[in-house]
Amino acid sequence: MLIENGKEILRAFDDREHKSQEILEVTDGVWFARGVGHSNAIFVEADESLILIDTLDTLERGQKLRSAIEERCRKPVRTIIYTHGHPDHRGGAGAFEDTVSEIIAFSACKPQLAGMERLSGIQGLRARRQFGYGMSDEEAVSQGLGPREGMNYGEHKGTLDPTTVYDQELVVRTIDGVELELRRLPGETDDQIAVWIPKAKVLCCGDNYYGCFPNLYAIRGGQYRDIASWIESLGQVRDYPAEYLLPGHTGAIMGQEHIREVLENYRAMMQYILDETLRGMDAGKTADELAEEIRLPRELSELPYLGEHYGCVEWTVREIYAAYMGWFDGDPAKLHPMPVRERSLRLTELMGGEAKVLEAAEAAMDRGEAQLALELCSMAEQSLETDVLQAETFSQSELRKALELKARALRTLADMETSANGRHYYIACAKEIENRIV
Ligand SMILES: [Zn+2]
Repeated sequence: MLIENGKEILRAFDDREHKSQEILEVTDGVWFARGVGHSNAIFVEADESLILIDTLDTLERGQKLRSAIEERCRKPVRTIIYTHGHPDHRGGAGAFEDTVSEIIAFSACKPQLAGMERLSGIQGLRARRQFGYGMSDEEAVSQGLGPREGMNYGEHKGTLDPTTVYDQELVVRTIDGVELELRRLPGETDDQIAVWIPKAKVLCCGDNYYGCFPNLYAIRGGQYRDIASWIESLGQVRDYPAEYLLPGHTGAIMGQEHIREVLENYRAMMQYILDETLRGMDAGKTADELAEEIRLPRELSELPYLGEHYGCVEWTVREIYAAYMGWFDGDPAKLHPMPVRERSLRLTELMGGEAKVLEAAEAAMDRGEAQLALELCSMAEQSLETDVLQAETFSQSELRKALELKARALRTLADMETSANGRHYYIACAKEIENRIV
């Protein structure tokens, strides 16, 4: 979400949520480690050993976790359970390589699109932009869900592959005397599970819930995260008689009633956005119109755990539109649009040329209209790159001006953005431009 003091709101959220480190024994024999890594980890005391649920994001942080575990419980970690496949939950596993004998995970409930691996180049670039890799702490402000990943400080991945991969819906196991229920609950990922420890009334929900607006769409790009399934999964998580809800990021939630209320609100938020988007689509509205229109009702938007510091409503609406109807929004002008550079060239001509467009962009910046300035700069840039005659005469200095102004607009938008992912993306793109014009 863009708002005048977006950066300050994001910083306040980060200070409140991610600055403290705690290893809390939430109930007899169940510890919750928060703030040690980007994600959380949970360890459970069994008869002769420990069961570790998720392992933090890097080997170095896994080692820190291991020292903290050894201070509290002199039993080895023999079992690791991954709540899902994201690397920020698996990267610390290597710290337990010498003691662990079984690593449990679930398969994805549906296969990835064939050829997805061929997008590793662009997905890597967009992930670096989204996560703010290579930025200073001051620049990044926050990584949204937790303390910044250890990779930002030169740490390394120590991921271990699972040794047991289930493809069932539900697995009930007694591991070294501890009864566990592992339930498939697709949400943020298709391999997501919840781990229920009935005796302790502890529920580990992975990334199906965390205390800010979820990444229902990740701007780094990827396959659709099926929101209808995620809603269904949250209903199931809500219905456990849990006294302790331990999420993959942000703080624990205690008390059955409170847990139910939080999960129901989280579920209601997703249901609202899905319903409003589908209703608007069926009424013939475009993705642009719906992204502009749909806002959460205040009783949801003001909840402290629904702040738009990671995902946001607008991107979610666009993603639902694309998932259900594809790229075409119904406007016949978009069936065969003009080539984008040609369009910029022609419109720039109509506006009186690149110099005039850049003058207007500068004026827009002065008025605080950074988005308009950004769009005008992109148009002038494309026009200059297309117009060969201009390029021979004055386009180099004009192009430089367009790029400088564009980088400024991106940095202004970054400071208005409440989502860490959005902030990083703007800044990363500004830096790419600045490096180009040095
Ligand atoms: Zn995560």
